[in-house]
Amino acid sequence: MVDGHGPGHEHRHGRPPRGSLAVPAGAVNRRGRPERAAGRNAPLRIAELFARGAPVFSFEFFPPKSDEGYQALYEAIGELKRLGPGFVSVTCGAAGSTRKKTADLVVRIQNELGLTAMAHVVCTGTTREELVESLGWMRARGIENVLALRGDAPKDQPEWRPVAGGFSHADELVAFIRERFDFCIGGACYPEKHPEAASFEEDLRHLKRKVDAGAQFLVTQLFFDGADYWRFVERARAAGIGVPIVPGVMPVVSGANLRRMAALSPGSKIPAELQRELDEAGADDERALEAGVRFATRQCRELLERGAPGVHFYTLNRSPATRRVHEALFRR
Ligand SMILES: Cc1cc2nc3c(=O)[nH]c(=O)nc-3n(C[C@H](O)[C@H](O)[C@H](O)COP(=O)(O)OP(=O)(O)OC[C@H]3O[C@@H](n4cnc5c(N)ncnc54)[C@H](O)[C@@H]3O)c2cc1C
Repeated sequence: MVDGHGPGHEHRHGRPPRGSLAVPAGAVNRRGRPERAAGRNAPLRIAELFARGAPVFSFEFFPPKSDEGYQALYEAIGELKRLGPGFVSVTCGAAGSTRKKTADLVVRIQNELGLTAMAHVVCTGTTREELVESLGWMRARGIENVLALRGDAPKDQPEWRPVAGGFSHADELVAFIRERFDFCIGGACYPEKHPEAASFEEDLRHLKRKVDAGAQFLVTQLFFDGADYWRFVERARAAGIGVPIVPGVMPVVSGANLRRMAALSPGSKIPAELQRELDEAGADDERALEAGVRFATRQCRELLERGAPGVHFYTLNRSPATRRVHEALFRR
């Protein structure tokens, strides 16, 4: 847990100087193998990584609930670190419920494991004072990247309401962070449209506001059909959104994964072929893993071949599926 978050508040011009490296973390070389950059000297700003043009791989984790969960997470991160990710990210529980755990984990991953780590920051359940405290605490410990999110109501609390005087939408949070801190800020986007938006046009108008407010890159909600991603990218470009749009991919390797996916991304289309293969695999975990890895590998390959700026993997705190997809992508 994070203890003693001070009222840290940093001005945008107070950023410490960073070292630069010939090899960007997360880049792949001509033979498709990840180039490794020494952890602490790696460029830490995610927008800078994307600006270098090579595909950037990233892994998303969530703060575990138990000591065993932390143990398993550190093992998974250790395994995935070998793949040379550009960055990893740590989610924040609904309505900011894990704010301190998230902050603590990103600081530990970055400063102890030497990986560039991004904190998900959720605004609806958090006061401005709490946000300033938490952001200042992370910034003072070298965190350079945050994903600014609105968040949703906790599922089991129908009476839940956003905090009074807080923010209603992510664009307000982006502007708030940008005004007070020197973070590289990312935002979320939805190739199949955010479920609350009345239309794609409306959703894109709001997304443009988020980018204009200071979001320097976007990470998509997970999806399965590359056509949805490319249609969305095209619409976003036509709407004047120029920042990198990173596809979010979740290798689905079990029925439990599918349920988790449905919770993370309500309304997402599940491909019949994947559903059938997982059904056929039944309790045969290895067969299900192979089916999920095969599907996700094909999806990633098609995205990268058409020029996606990288892939953000939803790992569910486990390494095998993501590792196998990554290996399959670079197998010759
Ligand atoms: C990559 C990624 C990571 C995520 N990580 C987390 C996490 O760690 N924790 C968590 O709780 N949730 C997370 N989420 C889920 C996210 O919080 C929900 O999808 C939430 O419903 C929307 O968040 P947002 O930041 O996209 O919101 P917003 O950008 O605010 O958009 C939400 C809806 O409001 C509309 N809208 C946006 N701005 C305005 C405006 N100014 N006025 C009116 N309408 C507006 C949009 O069109 C959209 O329909 C993540 C989602 C993604 C894609």
